[in-house]
Amino acid sequence: MTQIEFGALLDAIPEAVIVADHTSEIVYANTAVEGLLGWSPSELVGSSLHSIQPDRMHDAHDRGFRRYVSTGTKTLFDGPIHLPARRRDGTERDVELSLAEVADADGTPLVVGVLRGATEQVDLERHIAILRYLKATTAAHTRLWTKVDPSVVLQTLTDVLVDDFDAALARTWIHDPETNTLRLQTSGGITTRIKGSTREVIDIATSPAKVAVVAREREPFIRVGLGGNPAFDQEFVARERIVSVIALPLVAGDQLLGAMVGFFRHAIPDEVAETIGHLAALAAATINDARLVAQEREAREEADRARGHFELLARVSERLVSSLSAEVSAQSLVDTVVPDFADWCIVDLVTDGPSLRAIASRHADPRVADHIAELRATYPPAEDEEPPHPIHRAISEGETVWESVEDGDLAARARDPRHLELLRAVGIGSHVVVPLVGRGAVMGAISFVRSASRPPFETDDVATAEDITRRAALAIDNAQLYRSAEQAVALRDRFLAVASHELRTPLSVVRGHWELLGRRLAAEGSDPDTQRQQLEASVRRLGQGIDQLQRLVEDLLDADRLRGQAVDLKPTELDMTMVVRETIEDLHDPAMRDRVRTILPDEPVDGVWDRARLAQVIGNLIGNALKYSPDDGNVEVEVTTREDVVRIRVTDSGIGIAAEQLDAIFEPFTRAPNAAAQHYPGLGLGLAVSREIVMTMGGRMWAESPGEGRGSTFTIELPRRPAAAAEAERAAP
Ligand code: ADP
Repeated sequence: MTQIEFGALLDAIPEAVIVADHTSEIVYANTAVEGLLGWSPSELVGSSLHSIQPDRMHDAHDRGFRRYVSTGTKTLFDGPIHLPARRRDGTERDVELSLAEVADADGTPLVVGVLRGATEQVDLERHIAILRYLKATTAAHTRLWTKVDPSVVLQTLTDVLVDDFDAALARTWIHDPETNTLRLQTSGGITTRIKGSTREVIDIATSPAKVAVVAREREPFIRVGLGGNPAFDQEFVARERIVSVIALPLVAGDQLLGAMVGFFRHAIPDEVAETIGHLAALAAATINDARLVAQEREAREEADRARGHFELLARVSERLVSSLSAEVSAQSLVDTVVPDFADWCIVDLVTDGPSLRAIASRHADPRVADHIAELRATYPPAEDEEPPHPIHRAISEGETVWESVEDGDLAARARDPRHLELLRAVGIGSHVVVPLVGRGAVMGAISFVRSASRPPFETDDVATAEDITRRAALAIDNAQLYRSAEQAVALRDRFLAVASHELRTPLSVVRGHWELLGRRLAAEGSDPDTQRQQLEASVRRLGQGIDQLQRLVEDLLDADRLRGQAVDLKPTELDMTMVVRETIEDLHDPAMRDRVRTILPDEPVDGVWDRARLAQVIGNLIGNALKYSPDDGNVEVEVTTREDVVRIRVTDSGIGIAAEQLDAIFEPFTRAPNAAAQHYPGLGLGLAVSREIVMTMGGRMWAESPGEGRGSTFTIELPRRPAAAAEAERAAP
C-alpha cells in the first residue's frame, strides 16, 4: 500500500489517531481528531503532544515519555487508559487512549495513539465521587449530632466540588430568613477575585447576581460556555478559562437554606449536573436535619429545665406548708434549694430597727458557715451602705435584683480587708435577691447565690427564684399571722384572767362601802360625830375604789386604743417641773403625797410636750413606786437636763425587779412574779401604755433595779422638741 492509501484508511475510521515521534512532536493526525478534540490535523502536525493535554498533565507526560524513550519502558501500553484531553477551545474531555509503537522507514520508533470519547467512564468516576461525598456527608452527619453546625456540611460540599468534581471555584452561601439575604459561608478552589460576587452578604430580593436569582426563583442554573455572557465577570472567565457554571439553591421542603455555585474549566455534562444537584439536595437535607436536631435539643433542654423548675417548686411548696413557724418554713426552703439551685441561700426579714434578721441560711459547703456567721455578725447588710447592698436594694425597691458579681464588686462593697476576705471566702459569682412581699408590704428578702465556679443564674432561674419566694412569702406571712393570732388569743386570755380578778377587788370595795353607807344613813340614834366620822371614812374608801376602777378602765381603753396605732399627741409649751409638781398634787391621798420627794432644777425646764400624756406617764411611775413600796417607803422624783434631752427618774425602795424581768414588764398584761405573788393589785398595762407614749414622743424609757427587795428606778428620756430633735437626727451623718 502506498502512504496515501494508508492515510485515507486512517481517515476512514471513527477513532482519532495521533502519531508522535520520540521528541513528543505530532507527526500525524487523522480527520476524526477534529471531531473529538476540535483540532484540524494540519494544526496539530508539527506541534507537541502538550497541545492536546491539560496543563497539569504536562509534567507527568514528560517524565513518562522520557523514561519510555531512554529505557523502552511501556507502562501505558498494556490496555486502554482514561485521561482528560484538551480540546481546541480549551475545554477538557475525557478520552480512552490506547497506545502502540511502530517504526518508521528509518527504524525510528513512533508512538501511535488511538483516542475514543469516554462518557461512560465519566459516569463511573462521578459515581465514585458521589460515594466519596456520601462518605464525607455521613461523617459530617455524625459530627452534627454532637455539634450542630451547617458550615461543616457546606465545607464538605465545597471540598467535594473542588476535589472530586474539579471545580475551579466553589462557593456556598447560607440564607438568613430574617433579612432575606445570603451570607457567604465557604469558598474553595482558586482564590481569585470575581467582580460583583465578592460581597459577603447578598440581598436576595434585589441583587442581580446569579446566586441571588437562583435563590429567589429556587431554580437551578446551569450553563456551558460563559464567554460573552454579561451575567458573569468576563475578565474572570477569560483569565481563569472558565467554561461552565452551575448555581443551585439549597432547599429543604419549602425552606430556602442557602445556595451554592461551582465554576468549571470544562463542560459539565447533564448527568454530572444532575449528580451535583443530588449532592446539593443531600447537603440541604443534612443542614435541615442539623437544624431540626438543634431545635429538638433546645426544646428538650427547655422542657428539662421547666421540669426541674416545677419539681423544685413542688418540693419547696410541700415543705413550706409542713410548718406554721416562719423559721422552720424558711429553713426547709433553704435546705431544698441548696445545693441544686443555689450554693447559698439566706432568708432575711426586716425588723422594727435598721438591721435585718436572718431566719434561715444554708451554704453548700458547710465549712463556709463560720465565714457567713462572721460576715453577718461583723458586717451586717446596712441600709445606708455605698454602693447599696443588694438585699436592701431589693427591699427598698420591691424588685428582684439579678446580677453577676465580679471580684471588683466585692472589693467595692468591702468595708475593710477582713470583710473582703470573708466575701471572697463565701464565693459569690452571681445572685438573685427577691423581695418577700406579703399583703402588700415587703417583709424581707431571699438571696439566692451561686459561686463563681458555676454558670450564673439565667432568665428562667430568676423566674424560679421569684416563684419560690412568692410561695415562701405566703408561708412566712401565714406563720406570722398565725403567731400574732396566737399571741392575741393568749393576750385576751391573760386579760380576762387579770381583768376579772382586778376589777372584782375595787368593785367589791365600792359595793361594800356603798351598802355600809346606806345602812349607816338608815340607822338612827347614833352619835352624830361618830356617824359623821364613819360616813367620811366610807366616802374616802368609796373614792379610792372608784379611782382604782377608773385607772384600770383607762389603762384598758388606752391599751386597746394604742394597739397597732400611734398615740395622737397635742403638744404645747410646758415646764416639766410644773408637770411633775402638779402630778404629785393630783394624788388623792395626802399620806401618799407626803412620801414623794422631788429633786428639781431651780430654773423651769421648758419644752413642747402633750401635757395630759406626760402627766399620765409620770403619774403611772409615781403610782407604781408608791404601790410597790412599803407604806412608809419614800419615792424620789428627779428631773435633770442634758442639752436638748430632759430626763425624769423615779426611784423607790420597794420590792425591786429581778434582772430578767426588766424588759418583760413593759409588755402588755405582763407582771413580775414578785408583784403578783405579794397580791399587789394591777393589770400589767400601765408600763406598756407609758412606753408607747414615750416612744411616740421621740423618747425612751427603761427600768433598773439592784434586784428583788432592793428598790427600782424607772427613767424616761424625752427630747425637748420632738420635731426639731427628729430633724437634727436626720441631718446627722
Ligand atoms: P401593774 O402595776 O398594773 O401591774 P404596770 O405595767 O404598771 O402594771 O407594771 C408592770 C409590772 O412591772 C408590775 O406588775 C410589776 O411587776 C412591775 N413594776 C412596775 N413598777 C414597779 C416598781 N416600782 N417596783 C417593782 N416592780 C414594779
